[in-house]
Amino acid sequence: MLSYRHAFHAGNHADILKHAVISLLIDQLKQKDKPFCYLDTHSGGGCYDLTGEWANKKAEYLDGIARLWPQRDKWPALKSYLDCVTALNSGDELHYYPGSPEIARSLLREQDRLILMELHNNEIDILRQHMHRDKRVALHHRDGFEGLVALTPPTPRRGLALIDPPYELKEDYERVVKTLAKAWKRWSVGIYAVWYPLLGKEADRSQYMLRECEKLGIPMLTAELSVQAQSPTWGMHGSGMTIFNPPWQFEQQLEKLLPELCSLLALTPQASWTIKSHNSES
Ligand code: SAM
Repeated sequence: MLSYRHAFHAGNHADILKHAVISLLIDQLKQKDKPFCYLDTHSGGGCYDLTGEWANKKAEYLDGIARLWPQRDKWPALKSYLDCVTALNSGDELHYYPGSPEIARSLLREQDRLILMELHNNEIDILRQHMHRDKRVALHHRDGFEGLVALTPPTPRRGLALIDPPYELKEDYERVVKTLAKAWKRWSVGIYAVWYPLLGKEADRSQYMLRECEKLGIPMLTAELSVQAQSPTWGMHGSGMTIFNPPWQFEQQLEKLLPELCSLLALTPQASWTIKSHNSES
């Protein structure tokens, strides 16, 4: 049974890291006129009402996008991402927050394509409404792990896949690794971005997943951002994004961005960030 609903977490610090990174990757892909494809294995609903009951249950966006939004003019590196948030809102009031499919859709050009997968019956309906029958979008009500392997290599062949499972099931960590291994064999020119939570010591499986990913031998770049210290038990103190087959000089872009995001999103002085390159030739 699927219980995770992203509306409870929309716009939090983890969304900021994930959405900043995917918008920068899309900016890179757009440097060439050649078309590309964006795939989202776990799409969610595509757009979230920050004034709604779910978003306000824990109001996670207050320590996320609500900190970034008032200073949006001071973040030129995140212009594409923040323009998308601006397009959904009128004036200074922050009412709506885009999910990853909407961010990608707002950035893609006429010649580009989106393949969006979502398994939850309600979320796929919400996503369908938000996509407004956009002809560039193919929607799939299916398991995103299985779908990524089945739908790669995509047409066009250049592109980016976001893998963003809820990790409510322990199997998600293993499925990420197995799916990457299979998809990579079919689509080795693709860029893959995997989001994961950084949890308390008793619950964290992220470093195990990264070690398993390293064994695949694919060039990887990992950026982690913690907004507070790790708890000895449970709870999410931060998140990570690993980019497989990262574009040239993407590491330098992240090295500039991460300290700035860390200062903005810190909840305690123990907030921290790291960037690591694995399996690279240099
Ligand atoms: N990527 C979205 C964003 O950044 O806006 C958020 C996605 S949310 C973290 C994870 C989504 O995956 C949920 O909407 C959930 O219903 C969906 N989901 C869970 N298991 C899935 C599966 N096996 N295949 C596809 N979607 C799944």
